[in-house]
Amino acid sequence: MSYVGPDFDPPQPRRPRRRPLTVAVAALVPGALLGWLVYEAVGGSGGGASEAVGTPTSSSSAPASASVPKSTDDEKPSPSPSSTPSKTPSTSAPAASGPLKGKVVVIDPGHNPSNFQHTAEINKKVNIGTNWKECDTTGTSTNSGYTEAKFTLDVAHRLRTLLEKQGATVKLTQDGDRTYGPCVDERARIGNKAHADAVVSIHADGAGAGQRGFHVILPGSVHAGAADTRPIVASSADLGERIAGNFVRVTGSAPSNYVGDGTGLVTRKDLGGLNLSTVPKVFIECGNMRDTKDAAQLTSGAWRQKAAQGISEGIVSFLRG
Ligand SMILES: [Zn+2]
Repeated sequence: MSYVGPDFDPPQPRRPRRRPLTVAVAALVPGALLGWLVYEAVGGSGGGASEAVGTPTSSSSAPASASVPKSTDDEKPSPSPSSTPSKTPSTSAPAASGPLKGKVVVIDPGHNPSNFQHTAEINKKVNIGTNWKECDTTGTSTNSGYTEAKFTLDVAHRLRTLLEKQGATVKLTQDGDRTYGPCVDERARIGNKAHADAVVSIHADGAGAGQRGFHVILPGSVHAGAADTRPIVASSADLGERIAGNFVRVTGSAPSNYVGDGTGLVTRKDLGGLNLSTVPKVFIECGNMRDTKDAAQLTSGAWRQKAAQGISEGIVSFLRG
């Protein structure tokens, strides 16, 4: 769930219709069409799209079941190594060589597992150029209590391992090592200060049951106050399309059936993490935690490994141009 403001923000003005992801991806990643067709064959998407995004949670409420996070099947690490992220501390180092040698990637695990214990701090407003927004929010969770904040850190660790193996220098905006946040403005600054070649903010949505699939959020062109995204709109769109294409191909998951008109891509001008970025950056909502079918994927370590793989291959494709 991206950082929706206190009052649910109206959907963004419609962009010229993008080609549905199937066509766009087929151009980017031939395999994707196959994945999509397979998905269609097994009766995936509910079709149709609206621009309403998720149900806002106030930053004061803990994720629905923060008090009982110990119930999902995800706690039982499965034997296969791919389903458990390396717990290497964030001081892990890039491989000596690889296609991403010299590249810097910043990963922003959305929210923070202890945000709900710091409501006063995360409710403080920060300036995002276009307006003032809450410092951070608690994020959502599955009906069985698996929290988004835990999900984002897990996928971030897997993604970091994959990118470091290819030689990239990887930084996390938080690694479960901050009492709360960081605030959305600081999350952007961390990517800017690192002169990152690419930044990805990882989330999972909290929409209605039956609303399924992932979407990638691109920065719209904003120039107000400290925000000026004009230099990164095109490169971020390129990064976003490559991540979306590879995410479909590797996970077999469909693009959102409730935002993005089947393209899996949405442009927004109301997210501080994008508005204040001066480097190519996107958000990805990996699925809807409040839909039981999506939740079954999101709570599976093996699926999260595929999600990290899809995001990683999108980043590699972008960085290698
Ligand atoms: Zn989120």
